[in-house]
Amino acid sequence: EALERIQALEPKLHSFLCVTADRALEQARQVDAKIAAGEEIGLLAGIPVGIKDNLCTQGIPTTCGSRILENFVPPYESTVTQKLAAAGAVMVGKTNLDEFAMGSSTENSAYQVTANPWDLERVPGGSSGGSAAAVAARECVVALGSDTGGSIRQPASFCGVVGLKPTYGLVSRYGLVAYASSLDQIGPFGRSVEDAAVLLQAIAGYDAKDSTSLNVEIPDYSKFLKPDLKPRGRRKIGVIQETFGEGLDPVVEAAVTKAIQQLQDLGAEIQVISCPSFRYGLPTYYIIAPSEASANLARYDGVKYGFRSEDPDNILAMYTKTRAQGFGSEVKRRIMIGTYALSAGYYDAYYLKAQKVRTLIKQDFERAFEQVDLLVCPTAPSTAFKAGEKTADPLSMYLSDLMTIPVNLAGLPGLSVPCGFDDKGMPIGLQMISNVLREDILFQVAYAYE
Ligand code: GLN
Repeated sequence: EALERIQALEPKLHSFLCVTADRALEQARQVDAKIAAGEEIGLLAGIPVGIKDNLCTQGIPTTCGSRILENFVPPYESTVTQKLAAAGAVMVGKTNLDEFAMGSSTENSAYQVTANPWDLERVPGGSSGGSAAAVAARECVVALGSDTGGSIRQPASFCGVVGLKPTYGLVSRYGLVAYASSLDQIGPFGRSVEDAAVLLQAIAGYDAKDSTSLNVEIPDYSKFLKPDLKPRGRRKIGVIQETFGEGLDPVVEAAVTKAIQQLQDLGAEIQVISCPSFRYGLPTYYIIAPSEASANLARYDGVKYGFRSEDPDNILAMYTKTRAQGFGSEVKRRIMIGTYALSAGYYDAYYLKAQKVRTLIKQDFERAFEQVDLLVCPTAPSTAFKAGEKTADPLSMYLSDLMTIPVNLAGLPGLSVPCGFDDKGMPIGLQMISNVLREDILFQVAYAYE
């Protein structure tokens, strides 16, 4: 059914960079055989999933939406896709993304532009726009994305689905092509909070192959899915003051305000919380993320992976021509910013300063969680914009992630849940943020709200 739907919708949506129909049918047959033999089946047996194309899949092309990885076929499998296969999930294909996950609209993909299923002229958000659109359009039941500054939550908000960025270290990054390693996390998309919880259950857990992986026990997340938040007042929810006001679309503000009222009706105690350093998140991120990216992307030299430019005169020319032709303009911009910020003489002024501000942002959250269990705010300042509207102005594109970025800088989990529509019928998202490893609270409150 998923494959049929993909065939019918892809000419308009372009959510998938590659559809793995044969492998999907083979995986599905294996589940059927297990059922017929009376064997135990996994948590995700037979469930069609989409995988963001920056996760390595053995024998299947992994492009990161970049020309430089054209024809790159990984010789190994990422931990998360391995875990999904072990749980019986059926991978239907690899989803489109902004090149190397740099972007907020999926328009930076070198291959195709993905449409928002709610309005084909609008973007699905990004960088995991293919995964969000595929789930919203029911081309698959759930999907995996990655989130460095908002790339799961913002597209979830734009496409009217649930998206979660887990606590840094909860999900193994082994086999995720690195963008900014201290911020990257893999997480689930689902049409419901329950679906997202089930997918997280399948991928979370310690992995010796990722040195930042947390060795903690993974709770049974389904236990926390209850209809309300009673006893009244047990859950204290803080509204982040700094996310309201200038730059916020009034329609988004109205929907989020209404959602907060509903949380109160469900039994939560609401209070306003100030996070004064929140507003420095964006400039801090755009120093730290490009710095890490400039180092991570140094490996694409035309020797080890995918694309190599034709007829270079010598080895240095091969490197430079390959990189000049293989990377898109946003990726080049970030490599240049990052290289500059890390260079001798500027390191202290930019990179080191950004790391200090990162600590201030983290401390704001620590103070907040001494008072409340959960923070709420809009996921994005606006709803999905029209394709092409922001491509000429990187700064206005960057503003899309104003409210999601501080969460990555602090390593916290954040979830986006749909909370209404604007006057054009485009979905709006409510962001919930909890303390480290308190995904249980996110699921509990989001499930009760949904
Ligand atoms: N949109 C942000 C960026 O362009 C975040 C991307 C992400 O989370 N991967 O970097």
